[in-house]
Amino acid sequence: MDYPPGIAVPPRSFYRGVDRLEPGGTVPFNPNAVNVIKAKALIDGTGAKPLENAVVVTRGSKIVAVERQGQVALPEGPHVQTLDFPDGYLLPGLIDSHTHLMFGVPGASYEEIIEGDSDEIMLLRAARNALTHLKSGVTTLRENGARNKVTFNLREGAQRGYVTAPRLLLCGRPVTISGGHFYWCNQEADGVEGVRAAVRELVRDGADHIKIMASGGGTAITDLRRPSYTVEELKAIVDEAHNMGKPTTAHCLATGSIVNALEAGVDMIEHAGFIEPDGSYKFHPEIAERIAKEGTYISPTVQTGYRGMEALLAKQGQGPLPPEDQQRLDWAKGKCESQLEFLGRLWKEWRIPIVSGTDAIASFGDYCIGLELMSQAGMSNMEVIKSSTNLNAKALGVGHLVGTVEPGRDADLIVVDEDPLRDIKALRKMAMVMRVGERIV
Ligand SMILES: [Zn+2]
Repeated sequence: MDYPPGIAVPPRSFYRGVDRLEPGGTVPFNPNAVNVIKAKALIDGTGAKPLENAVVVTRGSKIVAVERQGQVALPEGPHVQTLDFPDGYLLPGLIDSHTHLMFGVPGASYEEIIEGDSDEIMLLRAARNALTHLKSGVTTLRENGARNKVTFNLREGAQRGYVTAPRLLLCGRPVTISGGHFYWCNQEADGVEGVRAAVRELVRDGADHIKIMASGGGTAITDLRRPSYTVEELKAIVDEAHNMGKPTTAHCLATGSIVNALEAGVDMIEHAGFIEPDGSYKFHPEIAERIAKEGTYISPTVQTGYRGMEALLAKQGQGPLPPEDQQRLDWAKGKCESQLEFLGRLWKEWRIPIVSGTDAIASFGDYCIGLELMSQAGMSNMEVIKSSTNLNAKALGVGHLVGTVEPGRDADLIVVDEDPLRDIKALRKMAMVMRVGERIV
């Protein structure tokens, strides 16, 4: 195809080049725009005491100054936008370690969506879900599995400025055994050679990390009580991913899969379900100790199933549930209770680095529910904030770009009206969301 002279059409590699420099980076909307943001207090994501009467100055996509008001000469001029929140609390943009953007149809099963929807419909829905999540304060998200190239196309669209999205860190398709959890994303791979080839394909397509389905899950034909990959296969995936400079994360519901993932040196464990072969939940202190020793990040995704449980509880309030719903409710309650108990123990007894992720599948934009559950499980609100910003950024390999409010970091910022250190629910409602210097809310 010929383009008219004078019009520079960037080759695809231009966009991929941006990825390599800054994973999931977005073209800044205006490199000269300046924001002066004033707030009652700044909670900067490092765990430090809040800075009272704070002012943050951004230029283009970056934060350039963080000070107490009155301590710094503020820029002036027509390119300067002043945003004053005299009662507001300023924080770094929130980070979600686990989403599935192509879904987002409450009440529908995986199979209904997979069979009913084209990739194009999934892409449109992913764009909507990404924006919904962004408006709820999530300025960076790690996507943990979609079909074909749905999420790669979404990121390309965001980088070209066609859609507005958080920074997107992508696995593309999860690596899974033949017939394994999420096999319909189309990256089934078996054996050492097979999984190495799969990792190479994913990196070729633009993967920032490798997501491994190390046990079965909610996919109809899989068994969530049992590991899927062998240690040998997992080691090959981790080795190949690390060779290519990419971190790994493994979906582990079965206890056996957690053990396998640790043995293989996976960087992050999702869910940490501790589900026994008989389907019961059982915490294993010796595994927790091993996780602590290895320094493996845990993304417990405590809110998975929580909204479904809420809906069933509301239904129950109106009268007795049909047996099938009652069974689902009992199962969901057991799952939520044990997840919270295990999270509390991992944190309190072993100080394991916990990061916050929604595993958003049915609904988007409710990231704060997971933070409330983490706080219920025994983490302090400051620890929850750290887990959802600074620690999460480090865990996802973008700690040098986002996760704290300090000069040089991306201007990804949020403001809320109430003090989240007093009540974490303050993060339910955003007074401002800024993504690389552009105000979204
Ligand atoms: Zn997931």
